[in-house]
Amino acid sequence: MNPETTETECVFFPKIELQSLITLLVGDGYHVVGPTIDQAAIVYDKITSVDQLPRGWTDQQEAAKYRLERRDDDALFGFVVGPHSWKKYLFPPLTTVASAQKTESGWQMQTPEPDTTKYAFLGVRACELAAIAIQDRVFTGGPYVDPVYKARRSNAFIIAVNCAQSASTCFCTSMNTGPKCSSGFDLALTELEDGFEVESGSDIGAAVLGRLTTQSLTAEHSTMAAAARQQAVDQQTKQLNTEGIRDLLLGNLDHPRWKDVGDICLGCTNCTMVCPTCFCSSVEEVSDLANENVERQRHWDSCFNLSYSSMSHGTTRNTIASRYRQWLTHKLGSWENQFGTSGCVGCGRCITWCPVGIDLTEEVAAIRGDAAPKPPGGAA
Ligand code: SF4
Ligand code: SF4
Repeated sequence: MNPETTETECVFFPKIELQSLITLLVGDGYHVVGPTIDQAAIVYDKITSVDQLPRGWTDQQEAAKYRLERRDDDALFGFVVGPHSWKKYLFPPLTTVASAQKTESGWQMQTPEPDTTKYAFLGVRACELAAIAIQDRVFTGGPYVDPVYKARRSNAFIIAVNCAQSASTCFCTSMNTGPKCSSGFDLALTELEDGFEVESGSDIGAAVLGRLTTQSLTAEHSTMAAAARQQAVDQQTKQLNTEGIRDLLLGNLDHPRWKDVGDICLGCTNCTMVCPTCFCSSVEEVSDLANENVERQRHWDSCFNLSYSSMSHGTTRNTIASRYRQWLTHKLGSWENQFGTSGCVGCGRCITWCPVGIDLTEEVAAIRGDAAPKPPGGAA
């Protein structure tokens, strides 16, 4: 896919034709992944039919609360974001990076070829496009390129969907990442009652669109699509003041608020598992019972785990408060030094899925409201 989006004229795509887009992509060898309902949540999974989409469902979200509810219409994308993010496919939770088999002539080592499955992601929101762009920098932007991520990412076809509503946990407007999709997609849809306003954002997106049955966009369609997108902006109430946030956090490492939050945080890692940008991982060797087949596996890990800061002298971050501080100061502060942007896209997942309802926007506000003087020259 093409990360640079070029301005194109929008067209109208009848809803009844959405199945033909899925069928076309499957025919082109893509594994189409989209939102489905499983265990009372909207999650991403492989789909082949439009009937697998959460037609007529919406989500209610607040700190530590997620509920699905019936809508009074048949919207296919009438919800926000659930516990899954696309990193599940681009940076899989478990990857075998090497293996060894014991043979009569000794150990045979193998390095698996990266999985080159072609994924088509249907329903990617603006904050998620921003999260993918962040992970692009993490995994492919430096001198050490992750081959697993690169193989999957370079084959991915992205169909974005502009949000027509915001949850009470969303704050993408504060992070300048949404709610409108502005770049990083092949196609972007805005859902209307009987179809979609569609914009192509890459040559491959335009080529796919050209193979579908579309109509000219009427002024009425255009007005309704703009109103739907504006509704998502207007519904957004949560905000994060990002002014000087890196120096604010790194200049307040001894603020008493870290202990307060550490006293209620469970260290459960939920926030990092659902975060679309968190990328901590660990590597371990796993063998079968006969000790004849060994795999080196990379799996998601979290800076909230005690063992994650374990070094030869022992563990560096022994308290939950120190681990929460590490997460937030990295996510909103030192991430900027490493990758040139914030590590947060304002999706709100860590607020919804924190079992005790810790809200990072409130933590920052508390530190900002009682900020200790910055060290001379600011923090590193
Ligand atoms: S820190 Fe929270 S709000 Fe920010 S991107 Fe991660 S899950 Fe979303
Ligand atoms: S902030 Fe919440 S979700 Fe994250 S580790 Fe603590 S209790 Fe778990």
